[in-house]
Amino acid sequence: MPSPKVFVFAPSDEASLEKLRGEGCELQLGSASWSDPTGDSKDKLVEMAANADALVGTSIKGVRIDKDVMMASEGLRIIAKYTVGVDEIDVEDATELGIVVTHAPTEANWGGVVESTVTMLLTILKKTRERDLFLKEGRGWRDNALMGTYLGSREDGYEGITIGIVGLGRIGTRFSKFMAPWGVRLIAYDPYVDESHFKELGVEQVDYVDLLKESDVVTFHVVLTKETRHMLSARELGMMKPNAIVINTSRGPVIDEPELIKALQEDRIAGAAMDVFEKEPIDPNNPLLSMGDKVFATPHMAANNHGAGLGLGILWGTADVLHALRGEVPEHVFNPEVLPRWKERFEGRSAL
Ligand code: NAD
Repeated sequence: MPSPKVFVFAPSDEASLEKLRGEGCELQLGSASWSDPTGDSKDKLVEMAANADALVGTSIKGVRIDKDVMMASEGLRIIAKYTVGVDEIDVEDATELGIVVTHAPTEANWGGVVESTVTMLLTILKKTRERDLFLKEGRGWRDNALMGTYLGSREDGYEGITIGIVGLGRIGTRFSKFMAPWGVRLIAYDPYVDESHFKELGVEQVDYVDLLKESDVVTFHVVLTKETRHMLSARELGMMKPNAIVINTSRGPVIDEPELIKALQEDRIAGAAMDVFEKEPIDPNNPLLSMGDKVFATPHMAANNHGAGLGLGILWGTADVLHALRGEVPEHVFNPEVLPRWKERFEGRSAL
């Protein structure tokens, strides 16, 4: 039997490649990498994916793993990501073609996003940057412009703020658990999550319009889909309170950026904290970067912490590829709806 071919479209570490070679795989390596996700052209991807049994890698930008790439090989079983996002993969096409897609939602990754989201929220509401700079620039001692926002409800009758969570999955759920002890009012919108989950968390289930109208903070934790793309645009921004802030640590295209910029420039909302952008890396001339303290921006690093790198994701991705090549269902399936078809095609048929 010929060796199975694995096309590593964005290689990461040498050890995982050695593991695959050691199991008898023949490897084709792409030129994208974690630090530079812009790699091969579409034509080159198609060429390198020819006759591949598996595709695996970190994130790539600028080209998609679309039907043409998938159809370069009749025997393609799996497209595995070392990371959580599958944005560059046309998952619906993979499902239609009977190919399993796996990803790596490690706690280090999604838990890291939650910690950064809380940091972004407090940075804006407590005016931490402004207070620090005020002192370091010698502008005096105390100033009314540096007043922060008290978050929780108080015995004196102050009601506290309302935080609206859009998407109550892994990240939205833990974020709600982190914020609950602060005594804020938590509301959330997620049409795909059961009512009982909202109840367990003590989070009020609301529709999207009410969430936008009632929240002082709107934080996005949805996956990027056709439905969530630009789910915050002119109409939705128009429903928000003038004092409200938007946080986006999910995916850039969830927010219509030009409309957000207009709303901020016209003071229709108070601020935004963003880790993700419609175009990444962000254009240095993007107006979001010159709005002073109204915008808090970070370079898509919400999940990046010491000791919490890609390691576990690479182990998962490599194991998922080997399971699929052995004809076994891999563990971290993103498109479970493909499994009946996949089992018909590959279950019990080892390519190793
Ligand atoms: P998840 O799949 O656990 O949760 C996503 C939730 O979005 C699900 O509960 C789903 O029901 C909900 N959803 C889907 N469509 C919706 C809609 N139209 N309206 C409201 N809710 C909807 O994912 P997660 O692990 O919590 O990740 C959430 C987001 O964070 C993803 O976009 C992910 O790519 C992103 N992320 C960003 C970073 C970063 O570095 N900034 C790192 C990890 C994850």
